Amino acid sequence: MPLIEEVATHRFERIGSHSHIHGLGLDETGKARFIGDGMVGQTKAREAAGIAVKLIKKGKLAGKGILLVGPTGSGKTAIAMGIAKELGEDVPFVQISGSEIYSAEIKKTEFLKQALRRAIGVRISEERRVYEGKVERIQINKTKHPFNPYVEIPESVKITLKTKDDEKTIRAGREIAYQLLEMGIEEADVIQLDAETGKVSKLGTTKGEEGLFFKKIVEIPSGPVLKIKEFTYTVTLHDLDLVNSRAGGIFSIFFGGGLEITDEIREKVDETVKQWIEEGKATLVPGVLFIDECHMLDIEAFSFLARAMENELAPILILATNRGITKIRGTDLEAPHGIPIDMLDRLLIINTEPYRRDAIKEIIKIRAKEEGIEISEDAIEYLAELGEKTSLRYAVQLLAPASVLAGREKVSREHVEKAKEYFSDVKRSTEYVKQLEGMLQ
Ligand code: ATP
Repeated sequence: MPLIEEVATHRFERIGSHSHIHGLGLDETGKARFIGDGMVGQTKAREAAGIAVKLIKKGKLAGKGILLVGPTGSGKTAIAMGIAKELGEDVPFVQISGSEIYSAEIKKTEFLKQALRRAIGVRISEERRVYEGKVERIQINKTKHPFNPYVEIPESVKITLKTKDDEKTIRAGREIAYQLLEMGIEEADVIQLDAETGKVSKLGTTKGEEGLFFKKIVEIPSGPVLKIKEFTYTVTLHDLDLVNSRAGGIFSIFFGGGLEITDEIREKVDETVKQWIEEGKATLVPGVLFIDECHMLDIEAFSFLARAMENELAPILILATNRGITKIRGTDLEAPHGIPIDMLDRLLIINTEPYRRDAIKEIIKIRAKEEGIEISEDAIEYLAELGEKTSLRYAVQLLAPASVLAGREKVSREHVEKAKEYFSDVKRSTEYVKQLEGMLQ
């Protein structure tokens, strides 16, 4: 199964801060619960998003998209993520910002093509084989983060299994490696990889004593151990483009961007995928392409996207902006949200509102739990107050430094106050620059 090994998934990019969102948190009638699926407040927007999900599922949003309009930090990304989750667990969610298309290394349309193809999943079902045996070794291979050479991220995992009469090595991709790390691999001796979901679960614990990458699994209290059924897994069209480009030796991949994939490769991939679908080996999973700060896109990018939306292989396009009437980039024309009218006509618009304190408080609680941070009630109160005065994002961002300052203690109000002294919010830091400018004049 070469695909599992070779394919890099891209989900690790920027969704960490939204990892607590599992859906839109609506009840059976489509009404939003104040807290549900990790989502808090913003009820009208969530209910509207729920209706959009129904339309998508009925195929009634084909060729159209969604536009989220509201102030920065009012949960637009969170809602877009919620929509993707409502569409299915393995539905790709790709987040880019309008300004990213202006990269020096890669053409605007190439960047958008890659983003679109990363947002289309191909669910591949392999023949299901089951191996049972004792885990001998789990090796997590790491690689440098594509955008940050100081950080190592899991690349793949190799599991050596002693079966009745043989030793078997199974390889799996980054997703599984991540799950193993998240579970605290040091402590996992008995694990199960589930064929249907690709999920790893821990069946028992006996602390292993060896290094981080090699873990010998010791003593299994309850007999044999690991059941691996080979997975149904989802890759994206872009993953397949990459694998094929590498296989063809067309370019050598280097991290950090700059790679262009030829249309020939894409056509080849599309043909292969079509064939897999006909043979019943694969199904398509259209995902979500979320473009934040869409007013940064220029007229060329908008017309490219408009054409792409017509394609039968298009993902669901969700745009977001906090701008009112503004210039369409690349023109002298003003338009609502800086979006050309023909594109606007295709968009269902959903407004998000600034958060009130009670919602901010609940979001902070959820994030603290997600990040494994123990925090006192008065620290939460204080963060909520800060969040209301500055932004939700700032309040959530202070959680991590406050927990560093707290060390082994529970995060208290004092820790948050200290963190606030060290790290500025946007308003404070722009005022600081203004003051400096005043002094220099
Ligand atoms: P926007 O896209 O409008 O700028 P956002 O969704 O990126 O906003 P942030 O201000 O970055 O929101 O949010 C900070 C944190 O709060 C993130 O972890 C985000 O997932 C979370 N968050 C935002 N809105 C909600 C919500 N309605 N329910 C739960 N969590 C939320």
